[in-house]
Amino acid sequence: MIGEPLVFVATSDLAGVVRGKAFAETEFDTRLHRGVGWVPTNALITCFDNLGDGPYGSLGDLLLIPDSETRVQVDFEDGSVAENFAIGNIVTLDGDPWECCTRGHLAAALERLNSVAGLQLYSAFEHEFQLEAPGRNDSNPAFSMEGHRWQAQFSGVLFAALRKAGIEPDSFINEYGTKQYELPIGASTGIRSADEAIIFRQIVQATAERCRQRASFSPIHNLDGVGNGVHVHISFKNSDGQPMMFDPEGTYKLSDVAGSFIAGVLKYLPEFLCLTAPTEISYQRLTPHRWSAAFNNLGEQDREAAVRICPVSSRSQEAIARQFNVEFRAADAAASPYLVLAALVHAGVQGIEEKLPVPGATTEDLSMLDPGQLQALGVERLPETLSDALARFEHSERIDEWFGATFKQVYIGLKNAELDFLEGLTIEEKCAAYGRVF
Ligand code: GLU
Ligand code: MG
Repeated sequence: MIGEPLVFVATSDLAGVVRGKAFAETEFDTRLHRGVGWVPTNALITCFDNLGDGPYGSLGDLLLIPDSETRVQVDFEDGSVAENFAIGNIVTLDGDPWECCTRGHLAAALERLNSVAGLQLYSAFEHEFQLEAPGRNDSNPAFSMEGHRWQAQFSGVLFAALRKAGIEPDSFINEYGTKQYELPIGASTGIRSADEAIIFRQIVQATAERCRQRASFSPIHNLDGVGNGVHVHISFKNSDGQPMMFDPEGTYKLSDVAGSFIAGVLKYLPEFLCLTAPTEISYQRLTPHRWSAAFNNLGEQDREAAVRICPVSSRSQEAIARQFNVEFRAADAAASPYLVLAALVHAGVQGIEEKLPVPGATTEDLSMLDPGQLQALGVERLPETLSDALARFEHSERIDEWFGATFKQVYIGLKNAELDFLEGLTIEEKCAAYGRVF
C-alpha cells in the first residue's frame, strides 16, 4: 500500500490529554516556524470531550509550534507505523506564549526560579500504571518473578523503545497493586523533565498496543486497592551544574533554599492541589494508608508524606549531594506534567521569597490526630474532593499571580464540566470512565 510518514505535534492540555494535529514529515522544517493552527476553545474540552464554559467562543486563532528538541521517532520494527511526534508550544499569532499553554507556564515558572534564586530544576517523574491483556486474567504476587515474567516481553520492548526516544529507563517493577507496574526514569534539567513524562506515557501506550495490551495510568481503578501515583523527584543545580539541595549542616541535610522551597510547596499545596490531582477519583487515591499523600506534610523516608526526603546510598559527601532529592507524592498522571511542575516551582519560589523555614518532618500517623493536634504540627488534611480543591483554587490570590486570572477561569470551567459529566454515576462507574481515558 502507498503511504508517507506524518509527524504529530502534541500539546499536553489542561484536561491532562495529549492533543494535536499531524502534518507531512517533509514539511517538518517549515512547521518549526509556521506550526499548525489551534483554537482557544480547545482548552475547554474535558477529558470526556464535553465542553466547559469559558471566555472563548468561536472566535480566535493560535499556533501550535513543534519544538525540534522534543522530536521522537521510534520504529518498533514489527511492521507497524513508527511513532513520530514532537511536543509543541501554543502561541498567539504574534508569537507570544498563550495564557493556557501548559508548556509556556512551566517555562515561565522555571524562569522565575532562575531569576529569584539562580537555580535550575533537576527532576524526574516516576510513574505507576496497570497493564491489561485481553483474554488473560493472570494475577501474580506483588514484586514476584512470575509477575515480571508475565510482562517480560513488554518490559524488554519498552526499555528499547524508551532508549530510542531518548529516555533512560532505571528499572521495571512488578508493583504492589493488581497488575500494577512501575518504571522510574533518569532525571533531567528544566522543561525536559516534563517533556520526558509525556514521551514516557506515549511510549508506554505505544508499546502496550504493539504487545496487544492496554496500559492505564488512571489514578485509581479499584477502591479496595492502591492507586497509580506519579512521584516527582526534585532537586536543584546552580548555573555551573553544581547540586544545590544538600547541606550537611542543614535541618534534615537540606540547604536553606531547599527548605524554603519545600515549605512553600506545602503551604500552598491545598490551593494548587486540583492541578496535580485533577480528577474526581484522584481524591480516592489521596486517602490515608494508601502510601500516597493525605496531608501537606514533610516526611523523612515516609511514603505517606506529601513531600518525602529520599534516601541516599553513598558515603562520599559529593556523591550524596548529587543524589540528594525530595519526592512530591500528591500527583497523578491525569495531570499535565507541565502544570504539576509549574505549580511546584511557583509555590517553591514563593516559599523562597517569603524566606519560610523548613517545616518539621512528621513521624506520626496523621490520620489518628484531631484538627487541633494537626494544627499544632502545622499541617492540614488536604481537600478531600475535587470540588473542595477547586474552591481552594478559586479563592487563591496566588493562583492569579502565578497563572493569570483567565487561566484560572478556564480551568474551573473545564473541571466543572468534567464534574457535570460524572453526575449520577457510582464511584465504580467514575473509576471506569477515567480508566478508559487515562
Ligand atoms: N501506589 C502509591 C501511590 O499511589 C505509591 C506506592 C509507592 O510508594 O511506590 O502513590
Ligand atoms: Mg511505587
